[in-house]
Amino acid sequence: MSAIDDLPPLRDVIAAHGLSARKSLGQNFLLDLNLTAKIARAAGDLTGCDVLEVGPGPGGLTRGLLAAGARRVLAVEKDARCLPALADIAAAYPGRLQVIEGDALEIDVMAHLTPPVRIVSNLPYNVGTALLTRWLDPPEWPPFWESLTLMFQREVAERIVAKPGSSAYGRLGVLANWRSDARIVMSLPPEAFTPPPKVSSAVVRLDALPAPRFEANAKVLLPVVKAAFGQRRKMLRSSLKGFAPGIEDHLIAAGIPPTARAEEIPLEGFCALARRVAD
Ligand code: SAM
Repeated sequence: MSAIDDLPPLRDVIAAHGLSARKSLGQNFLLDLNLTAKIARAAGDLTGCDVLEVGPGPGGLTRGLLAAGARRVLAVEKDARCLPALADIAAAYPGRLQVIEGDALEIDVMAHLTPPVRIVSNLPYNVGTALLTRWLDPPEWPPFWESLTLMFQREVAERIVAKPGSSAYGRLGVLANWRSDARIVMSLPPEAFTPPPKVSSAVVRLDALPAPRFEANAKVLLPVVKAAFGQRRKMLRSSLKGFAPGIEDHLIAAGIPPTARAEEIPLEGFCALARRVAD
């Protein structure tokens, strides 16, 4: 029996189902159920919520989410070897765990979720930023989720919460700050995982804002920010040259010196520039 439920310890689950970790699937498992329970708590009150979990693996975090009272957990897992272990969890929590086998980048999860929805995942490192960018840039805002509580490599977590002037500040930081309140809520050393990755990790929580912090059209803002940080050491008048006619005038009208570099510009400045360019 484990610390949080009547299911076997995760080491036994992994041994019983032959779940040797695969690097190609970003498999670094959390085996300490006290830790997965702590991550579930960091996601806030889950009772009455559907929770989307990408990459449940052997189910350590899944068990934490269910024990924390999530109404339902929808778990999307690419590795079919994990399905029998997840079926055991589903049997222990009747009607509360649905598992979909497949690639989270390709599956339309909306059809399986009922609001309010929170997303909580220990993401595979190779698709983590792609999923985050997608969740932060849905067709409509506010999005289908209320909060994201996600494990990343520490360096990626720092980029998500970065502010202007820091070397970590870039596209992810601008996008996250535009539409959410983002903060690091937990730090984990490599030894917390099996097998241990080379780098430290951190859990970031992002709470969706009801409306973006400053007005801007995402279809203009995101390409502007991408172009600006694409050549982050260049002055904006150079990095954005060719982005729109008369970019130097737009920069000045937005209150941005054309000689400034992307990492000096706060979110408000990028939004003002995007509004000028859109006009
Ligand atoms: N949640 C488990 C834990 O905390 O121990 C496992 C986390 S492990 C870092 C990432 C998990 O994501 C693995 O189980 C892996 O098989 C799965 N995975 C990798 N790529 C995926 C994808 N594109 N879609 C869904 N799951 C994926």
